[in-house]
Amino acid sequence: MCEFCVRHGDGRKWYLEAKNYAEDLLSDVRRRRFIADFLGQADHLGRQSKQLERLDSAPAFVRRAVGAFITRRMKVEHFGQVVPLEDIEEIFRFVNSIVRVPCICRHINLGREVGYCYGVSLGGGSFADILGEQDSSYLGAPDTSAFEKLGREEALAAFAEHEKEGLCHTVWTFMTPFIGGVCNCDRSDCLAMKATVIHDVKAMFRAEYVAAVDRDACKGCRACMRVCQFGALAYSAADKKAFVDHRACYGCGICRSACGHNAIALTPRSESPVANLW
Ligand code: SF4
Ligand code: SF4
Repeated sequence: MCEFCVRHGDGRKWYLEAKNYAEDLLSDVRRRRFIADFLGQADHLGRQSKQLERLDSAPAFVRRAVGAFITRRMKVEHFGQVVPLEDIEEIFRFVNSIVRVPCICRHINLGREVGYCYGVSLGGGSFADILGEQDSSYLGAPDTSAFEKLGREEALAAFAEHEKEGLCHTVWTFMTPFIGGVCNCDRSDCLAMKATVIHDVKAMFRAEYVAAVDRDACKGCRACMRVCQFGALAYSAADKKAFVDHRACYGCGICRSACGHNAIALTPRSESPVANLW
């Protein structure tokens, strides 16, 4: 299990613990201020992303030191974990409020508003309420009319569509351990996934799972390889089968959805040879 499961989940999956979505955490005034500032600071996040790109050309010891500093800070403020669809379903069973909002990362990278992010809470309050009471704005604009309150089934259907698009589901803290957001990421547009996978600055944990290919069921069509965001699937020409590099696998389960032959399953990371790789 990841360190958040130990510290915030009593040894269970921390993101399935209702206490980490609870109203008493959300009612903390400092946390509400942090959320309001975070949601309004697209320009600042865009600048930080550019700085990370420049870090790639720095000497290795500088990259390591700066990367470790950023990761330490993010674990306190805003850190994520990859979560497969079945665990998203569990989360949606106990939260009381699901609000779809335009994704900050796509706003920064593409200049477009795309509803790939979802604010969640147990208390029924939404991001719009927090922005209103803090006299703040979303993405630097006062307009929150694009916020959509969704029912559980609607949200689940939306996530199934995101899964078909090849997007990887993630949970996000707003001052850890409070989980306030569930997102749908890819490494071309998600700043945190880019930081983690491309710039080697960890902003999210891998899932509590890894993928496994059933060699008897695999037909070697390679559909799974096309959707993996992490380059974790390869192909044996001699065998005509796909195989998973567990050191690269984030356990998102997107390959499983793409396989038309039911040849991929998710298995617990704790039982794999990469049990300690997060
Ligand atoms: S999509 Fe399924 S059948 Fe096709 S190569 Fe991947 S595991 Fe094998
Ligand atoms: S191999 Fe499958 S489960 Fe692992 S990272 Fe790639 S798409 Fe996700």
